[in-house]
Amino acid sequence: MPTLAHKIRLNPTRDQIQYFKQAAGTTRMVWNWALDTWNQQYAAGQHPNAQALKKEFNAVKYALFPWLHTIHRDAHSQPFADLGDAWQRFFTGQNDRPVFKKKGKTPDSFYIANDKLKIRNEAVRIPKIGWVHITEPLRFSGKILGARVTRQADQWFIAIQIEVSESDYRRPRTANGQEGADLGVKTFATLSTGEKIHGPQALRKDLRRIKMRQRAIGRKLEAAKGQIGLPLNAPIPKGTHLPVSHNRAKATLRVGKSHLRVVNLRQDFLHKTSNRLCRENQAIGIETLSVEGMLKNHHLAQAIADQGFGQFFTMLQYKADRYGTQIIPADRWFPSSKLCSTPGCGYLNKDLTLKDREWTCPSCGMTHDRDINAARNLHRLATETALPVATRSATDATGLGDPALDRESDFDGKVTPVRDEARPAGYKLAASGQEESCDHQRSQDL
Ligand SMILES: [Zn+2]
Repeated sequence: MPTLAHKIRLNPTRDQIQYFKQAAGTTRMVWNWALDTWNQQYAAGQHPNAQALKKEFNAVKYALFPWLHTIHRDAHSQPFADLGDAWQRFFTGQNDRPVFKKKGKTPDSFYIANDKLKIRNEAVRIPKIGWVHITEPLRFSGKILGARVTRQADQWFIAIQIEVSESDYRRPRTANGQEGADLGVKTFATLSTGEKIHGPQALRKDLRRIKMRQRAIGRKLEAAKGQIGLPLNAPIPKGTHLPVSHNRAKATLRVGKSHLRVVNLRQDFLHKTSNRLCRENQAIGIETLSVEGMLKNHHLAQAIADQGFGQFFTMLQYKADRYGTQIIPADRWFPSSKLCSTPGCGYLNKDLTLKDREWTCPSCGMTHDRDINAARNLHRLATETALPVATRSATDATGLGDPALDRESDFDGKVTPVRDEARPAGYKLAASGQEESCDHQRSQDL
């Protein structure tokens, strides 16, 4: 059965927030204990595993940490499962090596198992503290699998995982189009129709504000260094705890709030755009940027990080699964920009550089906008991959398709809905299932 997650903002009381912080601190402490023990056992030539570590911990936990009685046990047992998962993902190359969690650096979070949760329209019942107000009712019905309480800046959220029925999971498309989308740094996405989708404009201003507020923290840090007699430009010796002033705490919170605003703005935009593309199309051809490779390019890095391409792909993939839409990624060798998109032409412009925003095809005389041309080629790729033989276009002079196929039959607009078809190779959903309203919370938590 498919699973979905709904992330809801909580409206906790002061005491409840206090408990949240303690539970998150417990989770962090137990994770660090488990990771440290794991590392030690590994160094000693043993084969550590999460289950055995948990048993070890359970045998001594109340003697070592008597205050654990005040925190619900899910918060101190889940870190073992999480650590096991994290190692598993590390061994399969999906994640970096698990690291220690640090207060103030790792986002606060803790887990609640399904049997301990109750939910009403206006509140959710959390063990040890009782009912906590929620800002919207749970969107899905089904079996609750568990939940994670997380913190962003000064706000608390609960992400509830629900097993939903196949029919609730599937969503109806409003149209059966095919689309090509060229993702870019200047314009977020250019569609084959010529439409250009721009990312949220507010981000730039917000990023400037964040920089300003970060400088404020820097000044408070300098003040703290002065307080303990360190010269301003001296490195902080390891293990030193600088005094945290009220104003520094406030400045940190302010940065956190600005970050949260940027994250929300960006996510809202990415959700709307990916929703729209999946809802209206049965097949989407899309340029797979090597995001990581591009992030190494420092000039592009900020722009790409702003645009959130990685997140966009994740969203597209799980939404496509729900809408029965095929995502057809063009590999990095597909000449989406260099190929003339005029039907029947297919000229390959080998001299095109990144600077050329426009070019004229010497073969057919058409002047192309670089991005729209790319989107049209991606559209053709989507059409030909999703609706093969019958709709193969006549532009296929690229050697990408099979020349034996009928070249005469140009795409005729006929559309066959493709629901529940096999996903293209190399397209994989996260093991945790699909998440509706949050970016991969799990990976943040680990
Ligand atoms: Zn041409």
